[in-house]
Amino acid sequence: MPFSAELIEALRRIVGAANVITDPSEVRAAALDGRGRRQGAAFAVVRPGSTAETAAVMKAAAEAGLTVIAQGGNTSNVGGATPEPGLSEEEASSTLILQTGRMRRILSVDPVNNTVTVEAGAVLQAVQEAAAEHHRLFPLSLAAEGSCQIGGVIATNAGGVHVLRYGSARRMVLGLKIVLASGEVLDLMRSLRKDNAGYSLKELFIGSEGTLGIITEAVLTLEPEPRSIISGWTSLAGLEAVETLFSTLESVFGPGLTAFELIGRTPLESLREAAGLEPPIAAADWQVLFDVSDWKSAEGDPAALEEALMPLIENGTLTDAAVSQSDADREAFWRCRETIPPAVKRLGGNVKHDISVPRSGLVGFIRDTSAALKAAFPGVEPSIFGHYGDGNLHFNVGPKAAAFPHEEAIHRLVHDRVSAAGGSIAAEHGVGSLKTDELVRLKAPQEIAAMRSLKLAFDPDNRLNPGRVVRL
Ligand SMILES: Cc1cc2nc3c(=O)[nH]c(=O)nc-3n(C[C@H](O)[C@H](O)[C@H](O)COP(=O)(O)OP(=O)(O)OC[C@H]3O[C@@H](n4cnc5c(N)ncnc54)[C@H](O)[C@@H]3O)c2cc1C
Repeated sequence: MPFSAELIEALRRIVGAANVITDPSEVRAAALDGRGRRQGAAFAVVRPGSTAETAAVMKAAAEAGLTVIAQGGNTSNVGGATPEPGLSEEEASSTLILQTGRMRRILSVDPVNNTVTVEAGAVLQAVQEAAAEHHRLFPLSLAAEGSCQIGGVIATNAGGVHVLRYGSARRMVLGLKIVLASGEVLDLMRSLRKDNAGYSLKELFIGSEGTLGIITEAVLTLEPEPRSIISGWTSLAGLEAVETLFSTLESVFGPGLTAFELIGRTPLESLREAAGLEPPIAAADWQVLFDVSDWKSAEGDPAALEEALMPLIENGTLTDAAVSQSDADREAFWRCRETIPPAVKRLGGNVKHDISVPRSGLVGFIRDTSAALKAAFPGVEPSIFGHYGDGNLHFNVGPKAAAFPHEEAIHRLVHDRVSAAGGSIAAEHGVGSLKTDELVRLKAPQEIAAMRSLKLAFDPDNRLNPGRVVRL
């Protein structure tokens, strides 16, 4: 049912007039996805300030039969936080974007239980800072942390650069508060590390991308803060050398190896071209940025790191290496890594894949898939970087002029090979609306049917982010 003046008035009474946006240009801006490629349409944007306000909004939306799209920082890469492009006028006029940014309080930090309780609109960086004030670590870290919000992070089960040591968002969530499609509140705000009292309902909402309910609060785990972190930037003699470097660092430092990022030459060239940034050592075909964390010493153990790297340089596994000598060095190393996505975007973007493959299959996957792409689509060049340590790569394909005309075919080629390698086509960014058809193509019908049943159990009228993750 389309919006009515009465409904707008009702929403204003719930959240305050300033928090119901109907100005067409502001609504249009909120309906543009984070990559700037998919312009959707909606009738209004609403910004509740609490769980109670969210529940009242959702109740009003249920009574009016509105479609509701939850939106946090709108940084996701799969088109899930904004309405679909090409909605009919009638569909757009019954679509509401629900922004969570007003619910941004850090409610409490419990240093004994090592937990933090937050509202869903808290920006990821603010949660990290709140933990640090108590000498604790909230380890989830990604390049969009200055703008993405905890609700979005949980709803996408975000990963980032520390999954290798600390896991994805799922491993950090102890409790959730959810507003259901009906407006009822499902309060699962427990701070327990052990709780087998029935089905673990919170798990269903982690990674559900706004299709099962609106997350409004969360209890998250914290970790002991490392006393020091040393970063290394190395050049590999060849792609295969990545396996030797990883296993050497893992065997020497064990859980102290907290990040391990593989970066190919093409993204490094984008970095130079679009952002004027150079890696700390001369670019090579393959480089690795890694972190070694230390909980004992404020200086870390540079001698142990040198001892681990030196034989690899001597036996030709590595051709060069730089080790951070200060926090400023570390920041400079990581600035290079984190500037890759915006640099690539500035150059016009590329065809994106967020894939994971068991680590033992990654080298072969990169070699075979790159060769197949170049043979099938003359002029394309894979632009590969990502979280090798947890088997997840951003296996992107550019340049724009050569790759964009073949976008769908490139997706199929890459996804077929991921599937054959026992991997996932949505490793950390989620499915959104960009990968739903591929999910149906590549997953067993029983798995898709189970997902549809789950969706219908929580959202029988298909009003929450319809068409995302799994189409009915
Ligand atoms: C430069 C850059 C680097 C990135 N790096 C990484 C990375 O390393 N690892 C990674 O995993 N991701 C990465 N991302 C993707 C993105 O930042 C994450 O997926 C992030 O978790 C999304 O949070 P958000 O608040 O922006 O969510 P949004 O984009 O606003 O929403 C994402 C999805 O969650 C739903 N949603 C949002 N809030 C709620 C809520 N409160 N309740 C229910 N559903 C909700 C939306 O409907 C949508 O489907 C990166 C993005 C950028 C731009």
